[in-house]
Amino acid sequence: MKRIVVAGASLAGLRALEALRAEGFDGELIAIGDEPELPYDRPPLSKQFLTGDWDEERIRLRRQGVEDLDVTWHLGERASALLPDERKVQLASGETIAWDALLIATGSMARELPFGAGLAGVQVLRSLADARALRESLGSGPRVAVIGAGFIGMEVAASCRQRGLDVTVIEPLAAPLIRGLGEALGRHVADRFRAEGVDLRLGAGVEGFDGEGRVEAVRLTDGKRLPADVVVVGIGVRPATDWLAGSGLDVRDGVACDGAGATASEGVFAAGDVARWAAPDGTPGRRYEHWTHAVEQGVHAARRILHGESAGTLDVVPYVWSDQFDLRIAIAGEPSAGDDSFLCHGSLEEGRFLVLFGHEDRLCGAVSFGRPRQLHAVRRRIAEGALFSDVVAENA
Ligand code: FAD
Ligand code: NAP
Repeated sequence: MKRIVVAGASLAGLRALEALRAEGFDGELIAIGDEPELPYDRPPLSKQFLTGDWDEERIRLRRQGVEDLDVTWHLGERASALLPDERKVQLASGETIAWDALLIATGSMARELPFGAGLAGVQVLRSLADARALRESLGSGPRVAVIGAGFIGMEVAASCRQRGLDVTVIEPLAAPLIRGLGEALGRHVADRFRAEGVDLRLGAGVEGFDGEGRVEAVRLTDGKRLPADVVVVGIGVRPATDWLAGSGLDVRDGVACDGAGATASEGVFAAGDVARWAAPDGTPGRRYEHWTHAVEQGVHAARRILHGESAGTLDVVPYVWSDQFDLRIAIAGEPSAGDDSFLCHGSLEEGRFLVLFGHEDRLCGAVSFGRPRQLHAVRRRIAEGALFSDVVAENA
């Protein structure tokens, strides 16, 4: 293998490039990224970068530089098509680049509402360019409306409130972060936000915006009108697979891969937000939109490219964290509605605790508020396939 091309020059792509060199690959490495920047870290965009505590230098993913990786970077260039039979990637400029192996790491893109396109003051937050624009527009007035109480929405709401702005969050479900935390813990988060002065409109929908040229208000489905200077839309993402149309790859909700990142097309691999890896037992898996998954899949896909099936499959327990005000929330595994639960290591009143989740007496997940050490211990127990009742007894 002489040349490996990585499409998508961000977290999963960079970790794969690093792993390829660390594993001894001394051939040619090419990275294609449609953003003009070298890889940077997204989590601070909604947190320390938005509050103004961190600058751009601080969010670089490799602050020591990238020279030692000896990569040819095509930055600000979009991959526009994959030609698997010719083993080439086409760029939007028309140039084609041949590969012996290709890693698709194009991540995901913010979903947008069917209205409001082009209205100044209505923004999404996915990239550094989005974050710069949002920071800039926060100076235009004090009233911020956040649509969607998922991870982006709640982190942006907390950061804007920390900047002293008036913040309203609009969410159709009954509590924030309900998909990750469940309703009871979601309500705990809601209480904390209300105590900070954030206006939460739960069970509310958005039907349009008022304003000509620039947004002036959000129109809710219950007929209310919410004046706003800036609107942040955080309603989820979709995998960045548009450029793969016609490639023959299965891209239904992400690029379908085996449990090590290989697609059904010879020499083509995928990792990170864009990829849907099979479970270790070969059953179809789901896509994860977590930082830790992007890192682990990027590294594993590099090994799979170099060592073939002897690299084995990746078996990791999902992990995601979110910082909102002083809440240090982290989730391990995949808790879901209807699971048994057990609260330990603190209480809701203290604000620090761990909740264990079990399904048919199998430990399937845990949520930590300020209990990282205990969460990591439980994450290992999930990986071991521990019984819920045993882990409850260990933590009681
Ligand atoms: P991405 O980071 O999306 O990178 C994909 C890259 O490919 C991008 O640079 C994109 O522009 C580029 N690209 C797309 N299409 C093309 C194309 N056709 N040609 C060339 N390049 C292309 N996760 C956590 O676990 N904890 C957190 O606290 C957290 N905070 C977050 C905060 C924000 C504001 C955001 C946006 C995400 C956050 N995440 C967090 C999620 C985490 O950042 C993602 O899971 C991670 O970035 C995924 O990495 P990736 O490399 O797969 O994709
Ligand atoms: P998300 O976590 O999927 O949350 C989106 C929220 O918006 C959900 O509550 C969703 O409700 C709601 N919603 C959907 N359509 C809506 C509509 N029309 N009006 C109002 N609300 C609507 O996605 P996100 O918060 O936008 O985050 C985007 C990506 O960044 C995700 O990949 C996320 O993992 C990542 N991210 C992660 C972190 C972190 O891990 N700490 C932080 C920031 C971002 P339904 O569920 O009912 O659709």
